[in-house]
Amino acid sequence: MASTKVDIGFLEEKENWLLHPRFFPSKVGGKPAWLDLKNLRAPNELICKKCSDPLVFLCQIYAPYEDSDDGFHRTVFIFVCRNGSCCQTNTSDNFLVLRCQLPRQNDFYSFEPSEEIENQDFPMDEWPKLCELCGVKAPSHCSKCKKVYYCSRKHQVLDWQKEHKGICPEIQKANSYKSSNFKVTQAGKSILFKEWELIVDEEDEEDPKNVDENQEMEKLRKLMQEKRAGTLSNVSKDELEQYTKTMPEDKVFNKFSKRVARHPDQVLRYDRGGSPLWISGNTDNSIINVPNCQFCGGERQFEFQIMPQLLNFIDVGIELNSIDWGVLVVYTCKASCSQGPAYKEEYVIKQDLSN
Ligand SMILES: [Zn+2]
Ligand SMILES: [Zn+2]
Ligand SMILES: [Zn+2]
Ligand SMILES: [Zn+2]
Repeated sequence: MASTKVDIGFLEEKENWLLHPRFFPSKVGGKPAWLDLKNLRAPNELICKKCSDPLVFLCQIYAPYEDSDDGFHRTVFIFVCRNGSCCQTNTSDNFLVLRCQLPRQNDFYSFEPSEEIENQDFPMDEWPKLCELCGVKAPSHCSKCKKVYYCSRKHQVLDWQKEHKGICPEIQKANSYKSSNFKVTQAGKSILFKEWELIVDEEDEEDPKNVDENQEMEKLRKLMQEKRAGTLSNVSKDELEQYTKTMPEDKVFNKFSKRVARHPDQVLRYDRGGSPLWISGNTDNSIINVPNCQFCGGERQFEFQIMPQLLNFIDVGIELNSIDWGVLVVYTCKASCSQGPAYKEEYVIKQDLSN
């Protein structure tokens, strides 16, 4: 029997330096606090699948895997395209989820937790340069001062117009220049989301009856997936018929609303190996198909979901075409394998309220 407790996440304002990578933060907005500082994705591997614009950091969850040495430190990152036109109903092509993990003994961080000292020397210069604007790996630099780095032409032009034009001559004259590193610059504010710390805490005990319903919904999703794959057994066939009769769509939304009302400001629900809280009973193609891990071939499981409340905190704008979601449901490799690149793509389902 699964635990009836779920962790939920809330946002709090926090000084930027306390969200630095050495503190292994969970955070929303600002620049990503990378975990592996060396093996970063190239900028062309961090672009929107629809429009090819650079993706912008949305949030990251620090979620160690206690059972594995490799996952002593473990963070899951979510990036999103800022173009509202790339955001389509029940499609997650404008998002990218990356998982990264490190053993306790690694090249970047001390074995014991870092003390909270603001100006502690943490040499980021050893590792690849980061974009002044968005914090992503930056292969090119300003041709005039050669001291400020960018991920893309797009961000270089934007920074030049908004900020760098005015300070470039001074930087050229100065002997040394300290890059913004992890700080959000004035120009960066125009593309990055507002920065928050994500505090994760236990939800109050849930009525076991409601938990059963969540599990039923996840069971239904899995049965539909089997059906689509043609691996449905006769027993499962009967089960599926049973489920589809007892799970009308509006019931799912009512349940969602009731559960969320207990903590209206929650932006995250974390329940690794548990069941997501779907916003709608709609189990169409995009929702039932969770592919296996492309690195180890193993099964993926539900890990956490981002709630629509997050949209209220990050200033996405209220124009009709802005980015939006009902729930972002993240499935990750159950074994949290170490194969593949340092930043491994995981699977996200965007479920919207409207069909
Ligand atoms: Zn896009
Ligand atoms: Zn950039
Ligand atoms: Zn310059
Ligand atoms: Zn795997």
